[in-house]
Amino acid sequence: MSRSLWPGVLSHMPELPEVERARAHIAERALNRRISGIDDADTFVCRPHAPGEISAALVGAVLTQTHRRGKAMWVDTDRGPVLGLHLGMAGRIAIDEEPATRNWDRFTLLFEDSGRLALRDKRRLGRAVLDPDLTALGPDAAEVSRADFRERVGRGAAPLKARIMDQSVIAGVGNLLADETLWRAGLSPLLTAGDLDEEQLDSLRRALRAATRRAIARGGVHTGDLIRHRSRGGSCPSCNEALERAAVGGRTTYWCPLHQPAPW
Ligand SMILES: [Zn+2]
Repeated sequence: MSRSLWPGVLSHMPELPEVERARAHIAERALNRRISGIDDADTFVCRPHAPGEISAALVGAVLTQTHRRGKAMWVDTDRGPVLGLHLGMAGRIAIDEEPATRNWDRFTLLFEDSGRLALRDKRRLGRAVLDPDLTALGPDAAEVSRADFRERVGRGAAPLKARIMDQSVIAGVGNLLADETLWRAGLSPLLTAGDLDEEQLDSLRRALRAATRRAIARGGVHTGDLIRHRSRGGSCPSCNEALERAAVGGRTTYWCPLHQPAPW
């Protein structure tokens, strides 16, 4: 049976909700299956491992549990080594699907029951790695406590949007989830992160959790209420004001000038 998480190729980068759906897909379909072979020949996707290194560590092992923090996910095995998987800019997890045409399955587990799990990635920017190093990642954006969120997000001179997209501050927020969250919170992306008061920070955290939950339930960050209007000439779905558009923190940003007022 073939079942994919997204029809066609992603038109946007995987963010926390996409990775959470991929993790859930692995949890539902690939746990408790024994690995009988591994194609780890792509030395770019599997860096820093040499071809055969991941295979030597994991062939014969059973996948036992999935985890995720931000956009990083990893799978435990009954052998000890952990398999880290990152979707990169356009990757997805294909389980028990026919092998990809061309060379888009960049890393593949073959199961004893003749099924397979592939990191399918046209752009080849995903990763497969043993025992991934997560020390540079902040706490998960959907799980971070209120006190931790205030402490980590509410500081510094960076624009608020750049601050919430900094993966070392909180992990998992990409460009679309950031715009949706700031719109829901009624906060301008141009605010200085360190200028927010506790009430604003708490409201931002609530908006982030709500936006994340809805994106997971609806199928991805592209389903956000603002995201559908996020194009040139788009207007605010709540008040119909023309959306502002500018680069913030180097990323194209849309916001409503009426209920996300500028800080000056
Ligand atoms: Zn508005």
